[in-house]
Amino acid sequence: MQFSNAVVTQRRFLYDKAMKKLRALLLLTLFCCLGACQSPISRYHGASKDEINAEIRTQKEMAFQQRIKETSHLYGIFFNIIRKNADLCSKTKYSLGFSTWNINTLSGEQQEIAENLYGLDHVHQVHEVYPGTDAAQHIQLGDKIIAINGTDVSSSKKHAKAIKSSVKDDDEEIEFLMLRGNKTFTFKPKAYKVCDYKFHYQYHAPEINAYAHGTTVIYARGMYRFNKTDEEIANIIGHEVGHNLMKHVEKSTINRFIAKAGILLTDLIMQDTSYLDDYYANIIVDAATNIYSVEFEREADYIGMYFAERAGYDMRDAINLWRRMAVEISAESIDKRSSHPATAERFIYLQKTYDEIQDKKTKGQALIPNIDWAKTGLDVDLVHEPQPTPQPTYNNDLTAVE
Ligand SMILES: [Zn+2]
Repeated sequence: MQFSNAVVTQRRFLYDKAMKKLRALLLLTLFCCLGACQSPISRYHGASKDEINAEIRTQKEMAFQQRIKETSHLYGIFFNIIRKNADLCSKTKYSLGFSTWNINTLSGEQQEIAENLYGLDHVHQVHEVYPGTDAAQHIQLGDKIIAINGTDVSSSKKHAKAIKSSVKDDDEEIEFLMLRGNKTFTFKPKAYKVCDYKFHYQYHAPEINAYAHGTTVIYARGMYRFNKTDEEIANIIGHEVGHNLMKHVEKSTINRFIAKAGILLTDLIMQDTSYLDDYYANIIVDAATNIYSVEFEREADYIGMYFAERAGYDMRDAINLWRRMAVEISAESIDKRSSHPATAERFIYLQKTYDEIQDKKTKGQALIPNIDWAKTGLDVDLVHEPQPTPQPTYNNDLTAVE
C-alpha cells in the first residue's frame, strides 16, 4: 500500500506527540516516587571539599608510611634468612645491609608524599637498615649519601654505578660520605654474602598467601596480617626460599614439558595430530606439572625450618601457624590435601623437623638439612661443614639483643 507524503508526515507528527506525552508522564511518575522515598532525618555533619581533600592526604600519607614500615619489617627478616644461609646457596651476591632511595625511586603522587614526609629529593638517602648488620649500628633512616669512595653520587645514575662497582666482596673496603642534619661523617659498611634472591611485598593483595618464583619470594599482605610473630614470618619466608633453593619451579616446568612431549609422541605414534583431545591433554599436562606438588611443599617446609632456625628464629611456636590456619581459615584443609599437604600432617612434619634440629643443636652438630646434596646439582661446598651459626635472639621489633 502506498501513502502520500502528506499522510506520512501527519502520522509521524502524531506519533512524536504521543511519545512526548508518554515521556512527560514517566518523568512525573519518577519524581512522585523520589518524593516518596525515605530520607535520613538526623542533623549529621557535612564536610567541605577542602576538609575532605585534607583528610584524603592524611590517609594517603598514613597508608604510605604503613606500607614502608611493613615492607622494611618483612625485608629485615628476609635479609636475615638469605644472609645466614648464604653458605647453602649456590648463587650469592653481596649486600651492605641497607637500602637507599631517592625521588626517582617513586612516581606520581608518591613522590610528593615522600618529599613531604621524608624530605626525599634527588640525593639518595638511607631507606632501610637491616637488623643485626654493621650498618644498623652506624647509620639511620634519612641519612643522605654524598659520596662513595670519593666519587660524588648526588645524581641517581652515579649512585647506582658507584654502588655496583664497589660492592663485589666482603673484603672490599667502601667508604661512604654521609650527611645527617648539617653534619657529615664517613662510614665503611661491612659487606655480607647473601643468597641471590629478591623479595617482593604485595601490599594490595589481601590473600593469605606467599609464593616463590624461582629467584623471588612474593609475600601477600593478607599473610603478613595473619602472621602474629617474626618467627611465623620466618617460617613462611624460609619455606619460600626453600622452594627457590630446591628449584621447585624449574622442576615443575620440566615435568610439564615432559608431559607435553609425551602427548606429542602419542600423536606421532598414532599418526593423528589430535589423538588426545585438548581436554584430556590439559588434564595430563596439569597432573604432570603438579605430580610432586605435595612432596615439594613438604621439602620446602623441611628446608625452610632449617633456614629460619639457622637465621636465629626459634620455630617452637611458629608451627602453630598451621593450627591457626585450620581453625581460622580453612577447616577443610585439616585432613584434605590440595596442592599442599593437609594442615594436620603439615604440623606433624614440622614438629618432627623441629625435634631433629634441636637434637643436632644438643649434639653440637652443624645445622644442615639432611639432603642428598650431590643430587641437587647445587655448587655448595660442604666439605668443611659449617659450624652452627651463633644464634642471636630477637625481640618483636627485630632489635638484635645478642
Ligand atoms: Zn610452598
